[in-house]
Amino acid sequence: MAKHTTGISFMYYSEDMARAAEQRLEITKDLHPALARNEFEVYYQPQVDLTTNKLTGVESLVRWIKSDGTIIRPDHFIPVAESTGVIIDIGKQVFRKSCRQAREWREKGMLNFKIAINVSVRQFSDPDFVPSLKQILREEEVESSYFELEITESTLMNEVESTIKLLEELNDVGFAISIDDFGTGYSSLNYLLRLPIQRLKVDRSFVMNVEHDEKARTISGLIVSMANNLGIMTIAEGIETEGQLEFIRNLGCKDAQGFYYSKPVNCTEFEKWYKEFKKQGEKHEG
Ligand code: C2E
Ligand code: MG
Ligand code: MG
Ligand code: MG
Repeated sequence: MAKHTTGISFMYYSEDMARAAEQRLEITKDLHPALARNEFEVYYQPQVDLTTNKLTGVESLVRWIKSDGTIIRPDHFIPVAESTGVIIDIGKQVFRKSCRQAREWREKGMLNFKIAINVSVRQFSDPDFVPSLKQILREEEVESSYFELEITESTLMNEVESTIKLLEELNDVGFAISIDDFGTGYSSLNYLLRLPIQRLKVDRSFVMNVEHDEKARTISGLIVSMANNLGIMTIAEGIETEGQLEFIRNLGCKDAQGFYYSKPVNCTEFEKWYKEFKKQGEKHEG
């Protein structure tokens, strides 16, 4: 009987695996045409200063919007795009669209915040990475100082000396650098301290548990106090509740981002959100 059950679950398992492999193949096939059809859109999620309650930034998050209107989240296609290398072109597209958006917001006089761009390991190790960013800035006529690049801890762990050199080069171009998903990688602190970075993003896996889990509280606290002592700015990602917000604020974390403020939304919805958010702020100030 037990054997029989095992057999059945094995069958389901392999069917699931076959379906996953099929989906992967389909996505692999579709990514290039999707890029050509301009199906990648940028959504924006606000980042708010916990002391002043002012918007300090937005994170650009890519969405694949198919012709039938279906929205595909990055977790479903970024890993595939990384393995085929098409992430390099998707990344350029996301940066270009973010630059155009920056320019439009600047022209409307509303760009008093930074735009954070996610960079994957494959882009980071592309020799054309820095030149292509510079070229896009030139073509779209916006300044690098509006942008922050989010790079995960694991991406930074690859090759110490070349990573430091590349980050310094990006700083020289004018980009701020933040470490995304901080606390989930395996970096040595000794090494991290040598990196020219301006900000740490406390990973959502800690933030989501601070109300109920002593360990999550301890780790979040350690990350924020370490960063504060080193003069590195902090932002907590994935804030959903008032309780999480209060806890994170009391730690001395500088900024916060999460569904509590807004989901990632398209530019039109973001502008609406921002207008409303400013109105609320002015009301509180009296
Ligand atoms: P990430 O950079 O850590 O982005 C944060 C993710 O957490 C986003 O998922 C965001 O929608 C989600 N999130 C934010 N606040 C909350 C919250 O309060 N609760 C919950 N449950 N989730 C929250 P998203 O947009 O699906 O992106 C997933 C990942 O895909 C990103 O993680 C990033 O690693 C990658 N990604 C997204 N856009 C790009 C891109 O343009 N280029 C590259 N290379 N990677 C990207
Ligand atoms: Mg990010
Ligand atoms: Mg993150
Ligand atoms: Mg994360």
